[in-house]
Amino acid sequence: MISFERLSMAQKKKIVHDTDWGAALERVIGYALQKNWKVAFVADGPDQSKTDITGQVWIQIDSSNPLEHQLYFFLHECGHAVEVIKLGKSAWNSKYAGQASSSINNLEHRISRLFEEMTAWDHAMTIAVELSLQINHNSFSSLKTTSLSTYVSWTSEVIQ
Ligand SMILES: [Zn+2]
Repeated sequence: MISFERLSMAQKKKIVHDTDWGAALERVIGYALQKNWKVAFVADGPDQSKTDITGQVWIQIDSSNPLEHQLYFFLHECGHAVEVIKLGKSAWNSKYAGQASSSINNLEHRISRLFEEMTAWDHAMTIAVELSLQINHNSFSSLKTTSLSTYVSWTSEVIQ
């Protein structure tokens, strides 16, 4: 995993070339770095974010996706971090208690996770507006729907 700040200019340009999507992606990178979040672009790696025990946010984006998709997933992963920071760890734990109090095979756990995913997409849109990004609402919605549908299927697997 290589963090964005440590890439050479040529590597950065490869990720953020001068299309509109590249410029938008660069703006979100700036937003994340300003908050001292660690950002890494990894080819074929999962899109993921986590907040560690010290409160440090780590975001990883699959750089093999088209830039527009990287942008939306990046906004979504930022959305997860925003939710943790907005609530604080203890309120986050109460809001998503289902994930801590039940096993991953439990319906309560999965519904809690689905709710968290939906909330992260909500924050993603708020961040896009905050940064005045010109996003394509149809493709944003389609990517969000595809992403959420995997969680909906995963959740419904445990419904008897
Ligand atoms: Zn997510």
